[in-house]
Amino acid sequence: MSFLVIDGAVKTFGGLRAVDGVSLSLEQGEIVGLLGPNGSGKTTLINLVSGALPASDGRITLDGTRLTGLRPDRIARAGVARTFQLVRVLPSLTLTENVMIPAVFGAHAHWGAAARRVAGEALDRVGLAGRETATAGELTYIDQKRLELARALAAEPSLLLLDEWLAGLNPSELLEGIALIRELAQSGITILMVEHIMEAVRALCPRAVVMNSGRLIADAPTEAALSDPAVIAAYLGEPADA
Ligand code: ADP
Ligand code: MG
Repeated sequence: MSFLVIDGAVKTFGGLRAVDGVSLSLEQGEIVGLLGPNGSGKTTLINLVSGALPASDGRITLDGTRLTGLRPDRIARAGVARTFQLVRVLPSLTLTENVMIPAVFGAHAHWGAAARRVAGEALDRVGLAGRETATAGELTYIDQKRLELARALAAEPSLLLLDEWLAGLNPSELLEGIALIRELAQSGITILMVEHIMEAVRALCPRAVVMNSGRLIADAPTEAALSDPAVIAAYLGEPADA
């Protein structure tokens, strides 16, 4: 069985089927781009995997463990971490404090000195070593993004969900961000990344899955997915069969 299995996931909001029967699988260590026009259900799908929202139907498993039906804290313990489309750090806390929290609540439930060590390693990994005692609120935007990634890494996830983590970076920051994600992927962590920047998707993801109106419309090697007529039509906002 694949490492992550999403089988028939559905999320309805009233009459809207934001995720409408999505099935896809990721192998361990894979990095896959999750694409689709605005409002196609990408963030909602991420929310179903992380448990931020309960699924209306379907089943999601990680390494054979059922995630659907578990509380988000249990899903974090099972090895799932994510970043948010809009950065969420705790501005009045220091960087170490920000990153110790997920070390405590993550896969290995570190405490005290061990949590501090894991937090330090995560800050180091994203390039924030030496800034430990700064408060998150004084960081620049890219450094807040780094911090958010460090928070996800401190949970020591086996599955990392990135929701447009590269958005809003300038061209040189984008290259740094791509290099950082590549390092994570090479360390063996499985990554599902929502991303609009095709340069980044092409550079990082051998495979892409594409959503439109809650459904999966492509699951293929990235170049093939991007040149699929249904995908091009979805991005142009036209019906695929027009
Ligand atoms: P994407 O991330 O692909 O831009 P989303 O998953 O955020 O798309 O949204 C998919 C659809 O679900 C959109 O129509 C959006 O308005 C709707 N939606 C998302 N979250 C909620 C919510 N909490 N309540 C109601 N509708 C929502
Ligand atoms: Mg989104």
